[in-house]
Amino acid sequence: ESVFAHLPLVPDPPVFAVMAAYGKDPSPLKLNLGIGVYRSEDGKPFVLNVVRRAEQLLVNDMSANKDYLPITGITEFNKLSAKLILAPDSPAIRENRVTTVQCLSGTGSLRLGAEILAKFYHQQTVYIPQPTYANHPNFFYSVGQTVKTYRYYDPRTHGLDFQGLVEDLCSMPSGAVVLFQACGHNPTGVDPTIQQWEQIRQLVRSRKLLPFFDSAYQGLVSGDLEVDAQSVRLFVADGGECLVAQSYSKVMGIYAERVGALSIVCKTAEVASNVESQLKLLIRAMYSNPPIHGASIVAAILKSSDMYNEWSRELKMMNDRLTRLRQQLVDALSDRGTPGDWSYITKQVGMYAILSLNPDQVQFLTRKYHIYISSDGRINMAGLSSKRVPYFVDAIHAAVT
Ligand code: PMP
Repeated sequence: ESVFAHLPLVPDPPVFAVMAAYGKDPSPLKLNLGIGVYRSEDGKPFVLNVVRRAEQLLVNDMSANKDYLPITGITEFNKLSAKLILAPDSPAIRENRVTTVQCLSGTGSLRLGAEILAKFYHQQTVYIPQPTYANHPNFFYSVGQTVKTYRYYDPRTHGLDFQGLVEDLCSMPSGAVVLFQACGHNPTGVDPTIQQWEQIRQLVRSRKLLPFFDSAYQGLVSGDLEVDAQSVRLFVADGGECLVAQSYSKVMGIYAERVGALSIVCKTAEVASNVESQLKLLIRAMYSNPPIHGASIVAAILKSSDMYNEWSRELKMMNDRLTRLRQQLVDALSDRGTPGDWSYITKQVGMYAILSLNPDQVQFLTRKYHIYISSDGRINMAGLSSKRVPYFVDAIHAAVT
């Protein structure tokens, strides 16, 4: 008998199960609003022009080689990533209080952050928003931490439960780690305002909580890289400590390259370099050093003002398309006379919107209309297109009437 005979079969994570079911559906009408990847107006995977340009440069660079990278990845990529999220003139960077290491996208950055907290941090309870990106609990469970939730989304208003969030921050044990999504909250599309972030910051600092930011949508939410970094920058400006996980998957459309960074902002340069030395040990034991190609693309774009500007323009264009689709969807639902107030869809931001559909209605969309969305009602706006809006609205109408 196999030594693994006692292993039960477990189902695929839901979002991958939805993707697989979509793949198998032979209907020409099928529509995938499930997994969070950006699509062009014709429903195709979208590679940014600036990424193609950067790749051309890399291919033609005969001096480049494929030797191992340092444990922490490409030094220039790390510096540029820190500047992207914390600001080019960030005092924390200037004072060498930030250690940034190249990681395997947002996922790897979050996991590495969890690893160092599990090993050295005094408080092992981590609070995540309710709801949040489905993988968030796993990073912390995997390293033995206790995961709890704080109130975030209010389904009645389709907005932020700010009161609940504040109350929960006030009752967390001192030192608890609090995970925040920097912008474009997945799955709700609901972010605090900058004034609310400021109140959150004051509470976090006064209660000595440790903020851990997950930034996976910088630039896709407002169309402006600076604006989308405001939440994180507010917390760094007060001189306090925090962790920041960055992902380039969505913002550069390089999902499969697995490019991200973990920055840990510390009180002093000495602490930051000690932290970095420990991160190296953790990385060495997990994968030794990260891959070179994707991070080289990102570094090429971030360091050239010409390519950086082109990237900003493409982000703005992607963001405009998402905003336009939100408006078209709400207008079409209203023209169709579909019961309910759907206007909240245009208030939600980023790639996602949570539709007020119950699991039966979601199943109905799939069964009758070949439309695939998450069971919580989350849709990826980018999976939609102007010409598919009428079909989608027909389906929603049928589901709720
Ligand atoms: N954080 C959030 C909020 C996400 O939505 C995602 C991807 N869906 C990730 C992190 C991780 O993605 P990746 O590992 O591709 O960067």
